[in-house]
Amino acid sequence: MESTPNEPRVSMDEIAALAKRRGFIFQSSEIYGGIGGFYDYGPLGAVLKRNVKNAWWRDTVELRDDVVAFDSSIIMHPLAWKASGHVDAFHDIFVDCKICKHRFRHDHLKDVTQCPDCGSKASFTEPRAFNLMLKTSVGPMEDTASLAYLRPETAQGIFVNFKNVFQSARKKPPFGIAQIGKAFRNEITPGNLTYRVREFEQAELEYFVPDDGSDSAWFDRWVEVRKAWYSSYGIKAERLRFYELTPQERPHYAKAGTDVEYLFPWGWGELESIANRGTYDLDAHMRLSGKDLRFFDEAGKTHYTPILIESSAGMDRTALTFLVDAYERERGVDPAGKPTERVVLRFHPRIAPVQVAVFSLARNRQDLVERARSLESRLRLRCRSQYDEGNIGQLYRRQDEIGTPFCLTIDFETLDDGAVTVRERDTMRQERVAIESIDRYLDQRL
Ligand code: ATP
Repeated sequence: MESTPNEPRVSMDEIAALAKRRGFIFQSSEIYGGIGGFYDYGPLGAVLKRNVKNAWWRDTVELRDDVVAFDSSIIMHPLAWKASGHVDAFHDIFVDCKICKHRFRHDHLKDVTQCPDCGSKASFTEPRAFNLMLKTSVGPMEDTASLAYLRPETAQGIFVNFKNVFQSARKKPPFGIAQIGKAFRNEITPGNLTYRVREFEQAELEYFVPDDGSDSAWFDRWVEVRKAWYSSYGIKAERLRFYELTPQERPHYAKAGTDVEYLFPWGWGELESIANRGTYDLDAHMRLSGKDLRFFDEAGKTHYTPILIESSAGMDRTALTFLVDAYERERGVDPAGKPTERVVLRFHPRIAPVQVAVFSLARNRQDLVERARSLESRLRLRCRSQYDEGNIGQLYRRQDEIGTPFCLTIDFETLDDGAVTVRERDTMRQERVAIESIDRYLDQRL
């Protein structure tokens, strides 16, 4: 399914360099040489990812009365992973190149006869299966009885609690249970920055619907909801596709599946999968635990297993998508006719780590600094703001590179007219706005 874009707008090297330079993403344990497949989020990256999670949470949980919140433990009873199929079947197939010793996922190879790294022919080992679950041990004894897994997805914590939730929350299908949390997979070939990592966060919605033939309509509805979500935060429609899986591509029990994919610099990559999983998950836990997780329908006086529509999105991949999608290298000419270039992140205002920057034009003028600082601390109560001072060109350049939609400058004129220069990131247009109307001005635009 992967295709390479003809002319990527930006390379992953450029994204990684900006992410490091401006404090979005750092390699984990960098001072020790790093550890493959793990990343840390810097001051701006941590806010970016939080904004993405908050946007998902607000729209999926808080603004709906048919979805409840959940937060399950990372380590669960090992039998939960037996029931879910992860112990026996959560495998990737890999091969090693005997010449350069590099390891590849078999299904990612374009040509299974030639190593993409060193070019050697017929140098691969036989394909071998590799379970992706990370193991740990619980308790003081490291024997097989203490073996536990770091969850490879958050969903199972919801399934095993299905009855606890519908009983305590007094919900009946159709309703959903949502959670955002860490998941771990011992990926064979982590790569492309935070796209494929070994520790990541998922936002999962498990939506249970009655067994009355309405499941396909609910599936279609959720695909539309998710389409609207990406579009409302400004992800470019031409770089996003909803790929309908064929019966061969989806698990045998799934009745329908759609992958949300983004056109990354290396080609299309999955951000989220939406699936109609039938009763597979609840059935599997009922079988192994021997507990009845069915819903009791008061009206019909019958027990039934609800059908599950799942939306499972990776928050690290989604945050990376916002970063890549926002990135633009813009060429222009200055008033003197000299060619100019700026890097700008065109984040949606709700996603931007900093929404408003307030500058004092001069660092050494106490009156300007004080006014700028006091304006910034007031704005801080209503938006994500930041104070800075110094050379205005450099300040704009920095804020463009971190995607701040508005910069406000307190300059010498402010002392006379009580107004600030507002500079808009995308158009670079500047206008004077009275300090007293700044709150209204920003409310309308953020
Ligand atoms: P892939 O085919 O890319 O390995 P997957 O189909 O195994 O992904 P799912 O099991 O459907 O992924 O997980 C749901 C979501 O979780 C994915 O769409 C992705 O956004 C996120 N995700 C899965 N694996 C990783 C990973 N290793 N790193 C970052 N995010 C991940």
